[in-house]
Order: sequence, then structure tokens, then C-alpha cells
Amino acid sequence: MSGSHGHDAVVIGAGPNGLVAANHLADAGWSVLVLEAQDEVGGAVKSDRDVHPDFVHDTFSAFYPLAEASPTIRSFDLERHGLTWVHAPAVLGHPLRDGSWGMLHRDREVTAGLFDAAHAGDGEAWLDLCGQWDRIGDQMIKALLSPFPPVRNGIGALARLRSVGGLDFVKTMLTPATDVGLSRFGGVGPRLVIAGNAGHADIPLNAPGSGLMGILMSMLGQTVGFPVPEGGAGQLAHALRRRFESLGGEIRYAAEVVRVEVTDRRATAVLTRDGERFAAGRAVVADIVAPHLYGRLLAPEDLPARTRQAMRSFDLDPSTVKVDWAVDRPVPWASAPPHAPGTFHVADSVEQMTEAHGQVAARTVPAAPFMLAGQMTTSDPTRSPAGTESLWAYTHVPQHSVGDAGDGSVRGVWDRDDCERFADRMQARIEALAPGFGSTVVSRRVLGPRELEQRDANLIGGAINGGTSQLHQELIFRPVPGLGRSETPVRGLYLGSASAHPGGGVHGAPGMNAARAAIAHARVRRATGGLLR
Ligand SMILES: Cc1cc2nc3c(=O)[nH]c(=O)nc-3n(C[C@H](O)[C@H](O)[C@H](O)COP(=O)(O)OP(=O)(O)OC[C@H]3O[C@@H](n4cnc5c(N)ncnc54)[C@H](O)[C@@H]3O)c2cc1C
Repeated sequence: MSGSHGHDAVVIGAGPNGLVAANHLADAGWSVLVLEAQDEVGGAVKSDRDVHPDFVHDTFSAFYPLAEASPTIRSFDLERHGLTWVHAPAVLGHPLRDGSWGMLHRDREVTAGLFDAAHAGDGEAWLDLCGQWDRIGDQMIKALLSPFPPVRNGIGALARLRSVGGLDFVKTMLTPATDVGLSRFGGVGPRLVIAGNAGHADIPLNAPGSGLMGILMSMLGQTVGFPVPEGGAGQLAHALRRRFESLGGEIRYAAEVVRVEVTDRRATAVLTRDGERFAAGRAVVADIVAPHLYGRLLAPEDLPARTRQAMRSFDLDPSTVKVDWAVDRPVPWASAPPHAPGTFHVADSVEQMTEAHGQVAARTVPAAPFMLAGQMTTSDPTRSPAGTESLWAYTHVPQHSVGDAGDGSVRGVWDRDDCERFADRMQARIEALAPGFGSTVVSRRVLGPRELEQRDANLIGGAINGGTSQLHQELIFRPVPGLGRSETPVRGLYLGSASAHPGGGVHGAPGMNAARAAIAHARVRRATGGLLR
């Protein structure tokens, strides 16, 4: 058990990764303390009634296919701790101005039927893709979520490669999202669905890696759906909290950690802003974005020069503006979708999606932002009174803007005025697809980069994924080359946030990988009388 005082492990941050790590360590019989800077658990998995008292809005994230597909989160049996997953009638829709919809229904036959009606042959092509995923998808997800290199699961995926077409399948996965649909489908619907889903990461849609993301998210939508926790995103975090507390775990709120204490190159304790010190007998797990862990919480002298140097080239992902609306009617779509979707994407075409991404990459505020959006009452009727909609949309903007690719009304400094002008631009995108939308809005909240970071310090400048998901910062390069696992240069300190492989999204893998590494090292330490690790 723990040393003379304190806990076996201190987990810094109660985001989903911190809570997953805490649960796994508690499962192993460790005494665990979680220190959370905010006054509630969840990190970017929270809900509130701040937009309107009758409406529950998810403050940040909303749809959880990755949680539902994650072996770790599934193994926690959170339903026994109060979590209920619910689904919208359709997973995802992409409305176009000509009145058509690209649509992903949970039932693959329905999706295929819709694609085929728009372009003969696309239905069969879609079912083919689903069939390939059935054969290899599970292994691919396990490989993606395990520490890199994913030896066992990687071999498992390789073993199934032949059954899905071998190198042709690999090529499809490496094809950029803009093109992956072109090679397989004649109609625009499947291309929109795949490219839109790729847009959930910040990989340019015309770069390798984006196609894999687009197919992964589309096939997750097709197999597990895009579930939401009944009652609000926060219910997922609270189920993790309840499970942890039922194992004897302890959480302290308003406890911002400002320093990880290192003695003889080993993390031994943490200090909070108000001067409290908490000893960690075996491990400290940091659910902390990498620049803060390496640049603030650790003293420079506790880090090798090469780590400090490498962190200088750590790339954040772009910034984000999120708008929440309380709407007194269902969204008045000009052309109603064939099935009501939970998630919807807003872009006039795949090309326009690429253009908007390009404008962000060129550090300009996008003229016609590509938007991810959610109809939450359609997904979960408990979110707002019957006949109303709890709605949100977010989009990416540059971390540092050099100009406005639109009408010049947004300066890119993200003060209140910028946020409201840009929210008007986003709202106009919905209005163009749903005339009269503006008159249904009862209340609106705009969370710009600053507001996001104020509510969760890991969202530096509104970056939502703990660092870019582009290839140069993935796998062994995440967060920096040479530190591709949860181990850090400080013994007993583990990086367990979205800044660690495999990155952002609510799947708990960085937290789980960190907890597993901590447990394995503690065993080695005990077995070697403290000589190793
Ligand atoms: C607007 C938005 C929309 C998103 N949509 C989705 C989605 O629909 N589906 C999905 O799967 N993912 C989504 N994501 C991404 C997902 O939410 C994140 O990848 C995920 O929450 C990362 O989990 P984490 O535990 O690493 O960090 P976080 O969730 O950021 O949690 C970190 C925690 O650490 C705390 N903390 C930070 N510094 C300190 C400190 N010094 N001391 C103590 N505590 C500290 C923070 O307060 C926070 O509670 C979205 C994110 C955002 C912001």
C-alpha cells in the first residue's frame, strides 16, 4: 500500500482520461486521490443549464462512439453506475442546399438504400465497405487504442488483412478523405459522410490519415452509432466518478496542481495552488495537456534538455468556437431529412469543406466554416421540453489569425464582439438550410477559445484534442519523438491525457495506458527492491 502518508497514486485532472486511470488503479487495489482544478468532474465531458434553465446543453463534447467502442470504458460496466446510452433515429445527416441529405442511418441496409436511391451501385459499395469493417474493425480499434507499437492487436489486424483485400485495403485507409469516397462511390452522399467524419480530427482532408479517420468514424456510426448519455454528457463523467468512489477513491475539487515534486528523478508528490502537498507513494498520473505538464507543472531542472527542446515544436490543434442554442421548435429544415439525425455537418460540398480547412491552415478565419453540429433533444428527449431542441455547433478557427477570409467583420482576437460576429456567421449557415431558424432561437451562448480554456485548462487556446492529430504528432511522435508512450522522463510520472497516444476523443485509452504502465512498473520496482523503475 501507500507510503507513510498520502496515497498510492495521485491523478491530476478529472477528465475522462483521468477518471479512467483512477478507476483502473482503484480496481488494482491502489489508494487513489484525484485532484481537479474545477468544481466538477468531467473535463470536456460536462453538461449544464446555463443557456436556458429548461435546456440541458453539453458544454463541450456530445457524441460518444469512441467510448461505446472502447474495450476499457465498456469493461467498466457504467450502466451499473447510472449511465444510459440513447440514440437519435439516424446517426448523422449532411443537408445540402439542393434539398438532398447525405445520411448515415444506424441500420446499414437503410443507409445503403438511401445511397443507392441517389446513385445506383452506391448501396452495394457501402455494404462492401461495412463487410470489410466487420472483418477487421474490432482489431483496428483495439490496435489504435493500445500503446504504440500495438504488438498483439497489430498482429491481429495484420492477420485479418488478407480477408479484406490486403494492400488495397491499406491503400484505401491511407487515401485522403477527399478522394477515398471518389474511388468507391459515384454519388455525393457517401463522400460527404466520410469527409465530414474525417473533419472531426484536424488532419487536412486532402492528406493521408484523414481517410482512415473518416472511415473509422463512419463505420463506428454504422456499428455502434453515435450514442449520447441520457440526461447530458455529464452523466458519463458522473458514472465514472460514482464507480471510482464506490471503490473507495477520493476526489478533491478546486484543487489546481501547480507542481509535480521530483526527488531523485522520481515523482513523489504534487502541490496545489493553495499550498497543499499530496504525496504519491507509487505514481502520479497527469491528465494534463503536454505543454502544461512539461512547461509548468515540472520544474525545468527536472526534465532532460532534449525533452524541453522537443516540446518547443509541439503543435497544438486549431482553436474552436462553439455555439449553443435553445430553440423553441424543431429545426425548420427547408427539406426535411429522411430520418432525424443526431449529428449533422454543414458544408456546401466536400470541396468547400476542404477550402474551409485550408483557410484555417492559412491562419485565416474561415469565410464559410465547416460545422459539426448536434440536435441533442432529437438524440435524447430529456434534454429539453417536448417540441423544442437543444442544439449546438462548433467549428475550428486558427490559434493565431492573420486575417478574415470572410467579410472582414471578425478580427480573430476572440473578444466578445468577435465571438458574437462569428456566431452570426455560423448561424447564417444553418439559416440557409433552415429558413426561419433565427426566429426559433430563445437563447444563445457562444464559447470562444478563451471561454473554453477558462472552463478546462487543457483546452489551450480552444484546442480540443490535446495537440494536433496530424501524422507528424501521432503514434511514436506523440507528444514528442522519443516519448511515444505514457512514461515520461520522470520515473513514476505518467502522461495520461489526450496529448498522449492515441490522442483526443472520449475513449479513455491514454488514461488506461498510463494506469497500466504505472501498475506494471510498480510490480517491477517491488520485484527488484526498487532498483528498477
Ligand atoms: C467543444 C468540444 C467538443 C468535443 N466533441 C467531442 C465528441 O463529441 N466526442 C468525443 O469523443 N470527443 C469530443 N471532444 C474531445 C474530448 O472531449 C477530449 O478529447 C477529451 O475530453 C480529453 O480527455 P482528457 O481527460 O484527456 O482531458 P479533459 O477532458 O480536457 O480533462 C482534463 C481535466 O484536467 C483538469 N485540469 C487541467 N489542469 C489541471 C491542473 N493543473 N490541476 C488539476 N486539474 C487540472 C481540467 O479541469 C479537466 O477537468 C470534444 C472536445 C471539445 C472541447
